[in-house]
Amino acid sequence: MNLLPKSITRVIESFEKLPGVGTKTAQRLAFYLLHVPLDEVERFADSLKGLKKGTVLCSVCKNVTEVDPCPICSNPNRDHLTICVVEQPTDVLAIEKTGIYHGVYHVLHGAIDPLNNIGPDEIYINDLIKRIKNKEGINEIIFALNSSMEGEATIMYIMKQLSALRHQTSAIKVTRLANGLPIGADIEYADEVTLKRAMEGRREW
Ligand SMILES: [Zn+2]
Repeated sequence: MNLLPKSITRVIESFEKLPGVGTKTAQRLAFYLLHVPLDEVERFADSLKGLKKGTVLCSVCKNVTEVDPCPICSNPNRDHLTICVVEQPTDVLAIEKTGIYHGVYHVLHGAIDPLNNIGPDEIYINDLIKRIKNKEGINEIIFALNSSMEGEATIMYIMKQLSALRHQTSAIKVTRLANGLPIGADIEYADEVTLKRAMEGRREW
């Protein structure tokens, strides 16, 4: 017998689908919302609806944006010949916060993770390779992926793809962030100073 009203169960189930949220937390959140004034809950629900309707992926860099191309890709003052490859849109925010990077980005939306069935086709690797192939005169590709097994596997895979295009990509400098980011650390959680140092001290592959 289900002791909870359906409307609450439905909310709990929705929260449970979010990353890092277990049953206990989902229940706590659902009951918390039960006590929040109706207009606030409505604003919350509206913002969730707007999340999908109000955003698109930039056709160039795959970052989440309101307009396509995104403000970074359409900014003539950015260096469009330097591409920083990151896993998540939040990594773009973290790097932008350092204020030292003036190139453009490519957001993969994940990393290769065979244990969770995420292969190269599940993330935006092919779009990156195509982008590199089609854009002439690229100076540098910076890998700013998380220092994890998945991040490493992703870099290895992309490098392999690039070496197949060697005649075209040999002039491109490939770098990665300097050591200093703890192993297993996510870029988005790195503090600004560490990330800034890692970016400045990036080394060639
Ligand atoms: Zn873009």
